[in-house]
Amino acid sequence: MSDKNTKTIELPSVTTVRDLAKKVNSSPIQVIKVLMANGVMANINQQIDFDTAAVVAAELGFEAAMEVIEVKEEQVGEVPLWRRMIEQEDPSQLVNRAPVVTILGHVDHGKTTLLDAIRHTNVAGGESGGITQHIGAYQVEHKKKRITFLDTPGHAAFTAMRARGAQGADIVILVVAANDGVMPQTREAIAHARAARVPIIVALNKIDLPDANPDFTKQQLADAGLVSDEWDGDTIIVPVSAKKNTGIEDLLEAIQIVADNISILANPNGTVMGTVIEASVDKNRGVIATLLVQNGTLRSGDAIAVGMAYGKIRAMFDYKGKPIESAEPSTPVQVLGLNDVPDAGDIFQVCASEREARAIVNDRKMKADAAKTTKTMTTLEDLFSKVQSGEMGELRLILKADVQGSLDPIIKALNDIDQSEIKINVLYKEAGNVTENDVLLATASSAIILGFNVHADASSKNLAEKEGVSIRTYDIIYRLVEDVEKALKGMLAPEKKETVIGKADVLQTFKISKVGTIAGCRVTSGEIRRNASVRVMRNGTELFTGELASLKHEKDNEKEVREGFECGLRVRGFNDFEIGDTVIAFIVEEVQR
Ligand code: GDP
Repeated sequence: MSDKNTKTIELPSVTTVRDLAKKVNSSPIQVIKVLMANGVMANINQQIDFDTAAVVAAELGFEAAMEVIEVKEEQVGEVPLWRRMIEQEDPSQLVNRAPVVTILGHVDHGKTTLLDAIRHTNVAGGESGGITQHIGAYQVEHKKKRITFLDTPGHAAFTAMRARGAQGADIVILVVAANDGVMPQTREAIAHARAARVPIIVALNKIDLPDANPDFTKQQLADAGLVSDEWDGDTIIVPVSAKKNTGIEDLLEAIQIVADNISILANPNGTVMGTVIEASVDKNRGVIATLLVQNGTLRSGDAIAVGMAYGKIRAMFDYKGKPIESAEPSTPVQVLGLNDVPDAGDIFQVCASEREARAIVNDRKMKADAAKTTKTMTTLEDLFSKVQSGEMGELRLILKADVQGSLDPIIKALNDIDQSEIKINVLYKEAGNVTENDVLLATASSAIILGFNVHADASSKNLAEKEGVSIRTYDIIYRLVEDVEKALKGMLAPEKKETVIGKADVLQTFKISKVGTIAGCRVTSGEIRRNASVRVMRNGTELFTGELASLKHEKDNEKEVREGFECGLRVRGFNDFEIGDTVIAFIVEEVQR
């Protein structure tokens, strides 16, 4: 029973000593002391479970309640290309196709082992253990129905397909090791699947290990928004051991239950389209591409245009390397005959002739070249116009902050913003610097990355630049929130950045009637440019900021005067130069962050 002086705090199922200390207005040392008194040795970053945290909280005068996490449904989702395609098809021709499944999860949680276990136990056609080659996908049979697995696990492959609109996977299997629990990449995977609106089935792996803790992991998953169906949620969680081959049948059963729920359809006689799973060059056979047929039937001999490549299919093989003549929807096939290596996620289409395919690709190349020069970024600045033109229905954000404790106030402040016109959708939030994975998620989801007290490393910056992803970093929460608010109202002015390009000392002054004062200077560093802005400084204090009116070296007008040279300059609107003043030249650029 709590007396009326006890305050209630909300705690997640797992928290760190540091975060707990903040919540109970105490120092981490104090919390550690209480833990030690209760026989728990912990450091400041250690994670402690709810029950332990509640004991500490009680000793410090707080009553702990389990935090209720609201899982917001995304309002605007992506409709994958194949779904839009089948809307054009004759409904009477549509049939169920095999679900395409991909495996995501934290490193070392057992993705590869699980893919191998499934491959070896249930290969379609009964040749178990018969596949020695990997083509990026394979099929298994469960209760006479097929399931296609993409076997390049990881976020990059999943994102590459999404980024091009192909969305290869219909269902995500999230592998979570029961001895390790929900880890950063687990959360990332959930964000990826959610952003793509692909249903998730959890494979709770490594249950054979003595330190496996399925209940604890299920609680963590529930906190992350995946509530087990045993607890009245709608996520199927299947305990498995990839290593011992247990639970695999249950997992396949779960896939079929989910697949039956989401009507995965195609018209085998319809327009042929699909996506590239992987592609490479073999020095004997030329370009080899693995394609996933998503609608229609692909045939050997077909002419196809695929991304920036084209060709006539010379030969086609199934995932076991057996030559085949045709491939129906959801079938992965290896094809030979393309002129160039397409990218994973590129969409293919069948054309009337190789000539037509070539023409389509040439046209694409021209358009891509033209688009290169006008590549647009999704920035906060241009969000408003995109929303108004219907290109985007919501502002998608990825939030990174130095510590978990900073994320909560940011989320709260964002939730307080008026979202009646445009919704804010936080796809992913995490403590830590901006990584390439964040950029990948942003790329595929047209999201913006906002960082608080964090930075982006060089590789993620490069990727962001290449993919046109905007990363904005802040060190004051309210500025971050204010920018989002302004963006939602379409009021955000592009950010400007000043770069100092040179400095000069005033050695002499000349007053010329009707013209003004000319400062005779020596450039002490960098250069003074005619079109630069300048600031006049005296004893460290700024006197004036404006534009140059003229710049001369000896008698000649100059575009620039470099370090070590003398020059005469006039500043528009300023005539009060004194010997000893410093002129600082700078340029102003609009920055796209
Ligand atoms: P990935 O990085 O997610 O692809 O993980 P791997 O499949 O490479 O597995 C990482 C490690 O965990 C390997 O040493 C596997 O043998 C081991 N492992 C995977 N699944 C299980 C399992 O069910 N039980 C046990 N005990 N070990 C497993």
